[in-house]
Amino acid sequence: MRTTATPTAFPAPGTFAVAQQVTLLCDTPGAVIRYTLDGTPPTAQSPVCEPHDLPMLAAVNDATGKGVRSCYTLTAQATAPEHAPSAVVTFDYVIDRRDTDVYVSTEVEPGLWMIKDYDDTKMYLIKGRERALLIDAGLGNGQLRTFVNDLVGDLPMSVFITHGHPDHIAAMGQFEDAYDVYMSHHDLAMAHSFKERLGYQLDLSAIIDVHEGMVFDLGDWHLEVYQVPGHSQGSMILLDATRGVIIAGDAFGSNTPTIPHALWMQIPSASPIDHYLTALYAVRAHIDGRYDRIYGGHNDTPLPPAYLDTLQAVVQRLVDEEQAALSPSLRPRGGWWAQVGDRVRDPHWAAINVPREGFLSAPSRQLATLAYLSVHGGTLSPRFLPTTGEYTVQARGAVVLTPYVTMTAGACVTINGVPHRSGEPYAVATGAVVIQVVAADGTTTQVYRIVVE
Ligand SMILES: [Zn+2]
Repeated sequence: MRTTATPTAFPAPGTFAVAQQVTLLCDTPGAVIRYTLDGTPPTAQSPVCEPHDLPMLAAVNDATGKGVRSCYTLTAQATAPEHAPSAVVTFDYVIDRRDTDVYVSTEVEPGLWMIKDYDDTKMYLIKGRERALLIDAGLGNGQLRTFVNDLVGDLPMSVFITHGHPDHIAAMGQFEDAYDVYMSHHDLAMAHSFKERLGYQLDLSAIIDVHEGMVFDLGDWHLEVYQVPGHSQGSMILLDATRGVIIAGDAFGSNTPTIPHALWMQIPSASPIDHYLTALYAVRAHIDGRYDRIYGGHNDTPLPPAYLDTLQAVVQRLVDEEQAALSPSLRPRGGWWAQVGDRVRDPHWAAINVPREGFLSAPSRQLATLAYLSVHGGTLSPRFLPTTGEYTVQARGAVVLTPYVTMTAGACVTINGVPHRSGEPYAVATGAVVIQVVAADGTTTQVYRIVVE
């Protein structure tokens, strides 16, 4: 009789600063893996490691905020039909939690510091030739201002908040009396509710609004602001095209495989997923080809452009398949997500948490929106909005229009009556161009008229 393969663990044993979910794997087909977290050998009554219910190694702070060092001995054994049970194997983990008032930093590339609080929430500090910019203010309750001042020295500094969630605004109030603090006013009401609920010292009337088109000039860093409504209505990202760096907060989510963060769209601040697809088309028309690293609010290392492709594939899956795209989420437990890529093996895997129902603005087959119109060789006016139908283009030379359409299989887009594909360029001379989008079930028709002058 053959023996069941010995289970392996992902992540491998080691010391971590934050909670981990451990995936137990076994090469024998059909194997069931039982485990304990106290070092005793598993029995038939021990919990089974299910794909959506993994052993959780909690990170603990005591009542005073002190970080607790927790040691976990994960003991596992696999059994499979017509096989002898595997060897019993143990994996030792330490979760060495930081105190809630502690910050740590690393210069991840010249002039760019990643600052982490006790929960590993990422803030970024950019030291330019002339100015510094702190991006986000974390979840921790320590002296972030003192910590940042030690890094910045005499440089003048501003503070940019990517969005109004608690893990990005907790220490924001420390800066308001001496620094300009920027955050989209779309997130003010939400930030206010967190301030009330969590007792943050924060004067929201001092916050300066942020909008797409602004540039933060630090001397040698030029950070362009783009809006990515979705995770929150005021989510903003920063791009330095010379370096190819994006700082994104949570606008594109995170894909840490062992926590896992995903893109949180199951929360009250989130847009319908088809609206988020529209936002992705619009922002990608501006940023694609101009960056190669995305620093987010939760990943330990920057994400490459391929991650956005996977993320957009997940969004499109949700639009196309609706609830059929869902499986139980790893975090939060009891939630639902859609996922593309293998979490354990694929560094570009992406997942999006959504509510079980109602995550589209309309049934999939009724969706048909010109999400974004990219114009080369001319200037579009007014600025493109999916709800506006009439435009002019002041041509500077040969004009190329590229329509991006939020739609599902079976919907169609035509240009001057000829079928066209979303994302495909269309060259025009002067005259009128009519772009029509018809939903899969024929109920929705949107017409956009662009006059090229
Ligand atoms: Zn967030």
